[in-house]
Amino acid sequence: MKITGNGDTKVENRFRFYNTLTRQVGPVVPREDGKIRMYTCGPTVYHYAHIGNLRSYIMEDVLEKALRYAGYDVKRVMNITDVGHLSSDADTGEDKMLKGAKRENRTVMEIAQFYTDAFFADCAKLNIKTPDIVEPATNCIPEFIHMVEVLLEKGYAYTAGGNVYFDTSKLDDYFVFSSQSEKELLVGVREDVEEDANKRNRNDFVLWFTKSKFEDQALKWESPWGTGYPGWHIECSCISMKHLGEYMDIHCGGVDNIFPHHTNEIAQSESYLGHKWCSYWFHVNHLQDKSGKMSKSKGDFLTLSLLEEKGYDPLVYRMFCLQSHYRKPLEFSYGVLDNMSAAYTKLVRRIADLKPEGGIDKARFAEYREAFQAALCDDLNTSMAITIIYDLLKDEMSDATKYALIEDFDRVLSLNLTTAAVREPEKDQDVDEDMRSYILAKIEERKAAKKAKDFAAADAIREELLAKGIVLKDTREGVVWHRA
Ligand code: AMP
Ligand code: ZN
Repeated sequence: MKITGNGDTKVENRFRFYNTLTRQVGPVVPREDGKIRMYTCGPTVYHYAHIGNLRSYIMEDVLEKALRYAGYDVKRVMNITDVGHLSSDADTGEDKMLKGAKRENRTVMEIAQFYTDAFFADCAKLNIKTPDIVEPATNCIPEFIHMVEVLLEKGYAYTAGGNVYFDTSKLDDYFVFSSQSEKELLVGVREDVEEDANKRNRNDFVLWFTKSKFEDQALKWESPWGTGYPGWHIECSCISMKHLGEYMDIHCGGVDNIFPHHTNEIAQSESYLGHKWCSYWFHVNHLQDKSGKMSKSKGDFLTLSLLEEKGYDPLVYRMFCLQSHYRKPLEFSYGVLDNMSAAYTKLVRRIADLKPEGGIDKARFAEYREAFQAALCDDLNTSMAITIIYDLLKDEMSDATKYALIEDFDRVLSLNLTTAAVREPEKDQDVDEDMRSYILAKIEERKAAKKAKDFAAADAIREELLAKGIVLKDTREGVVWHRA
């Protein structure tokens, strides 16, 4: 089979990435129709996404765009988890959505709508493309009920204490992602977890709840097993099958999803279908803060809005993510973000200085495009892809060729490389002289406050300017400002 992508490049087997299932870097081979069916575990919309969550969505966005760039035909689906994701992965805690509703004294559906909108607003700022299909879990209750019925009929599930459970002892290999030693570890990891006495086996999981300790669950539906609500894992199996059919190519998520979420998805999907379900599993490692894993339940957590309030352009955070490999843990610090901010500003200014006149050198264009694509196809080496931009800027060729290449690469990187620098001065120009002097005076005042370690006064000045529609950015080269 041959697939023809951009131009006439043959793309079959071209793209390679690390498949968690096979524990190897290998080529992505599409099914007979040439389509790549891709699924992403969406956000649990009980709170803002933290910038760790957004790291996963940025890298999954680049994966999709890199596949398209290499000529693959991609269809991508994402769910929105608005019911059934409990605080504990062992099915014992409270529904996270209910927790969010109680915290804010709003209904679960109000919470879901608010944080779904907030999530997509963050995605838009980070140039993350919305997947072709986005489906909230609460839209698919009949599909969940149907899958649970089939699993019961086939003997893979049982009812106990009012809930329906998946029986993991029915599978020859439940721990599909793990080596033998890891399997022991995974079972051990869950030993501190409060056990549900209804489970026949330690790793059995709930497909449908009618009983839990938390009787005030807000959203409930009629089912053959009584009024209740679905388990979290069943959502992703059903929503992906609804839109992508019985076979999936690439399933994405953060590394914390490997166990138990993705392990359980495979168990129930393949038992339901009676055949292998998904070929490739793409997992993004965690963003960490100094204290370790970033988590929403810790209370205070880093959001994109917080970075913006501190004056960082969201695309600086995107570049920070792209500069590191998706399989490595990434430690967040403001120091590194400051460096990235300076690098980004410098890069976009350099690009803005190009005079894209004259012709495009087609041979050089093809040569660089090939190198860029090769970096992405090599297990999504995004930092190498960015290095190629620095290389081409230094190279002897027309500005028109350079500009065309960078525009082309930005279809994948989505860093607004050719537009960001042009935008700022234009925005700056539409303030009058009085306003300009006022801003500069305030910047000086803030500098003095910071020097005197009066951070409350410095923050108050930032807020004062923000109220007037002016955003301050702290960069290595000093403070810059632009209109909000
Ligand atoms: P959630 O909203 O909790 O369902 O998580 C949304 C996505 O973020 C999932 O794919 C998680 O695996 C991923 N995720 C959670 N924490 C982190 C982190 N610290 N760094 C990167 N991705 C994360
Ligand atoms: Zn999922």
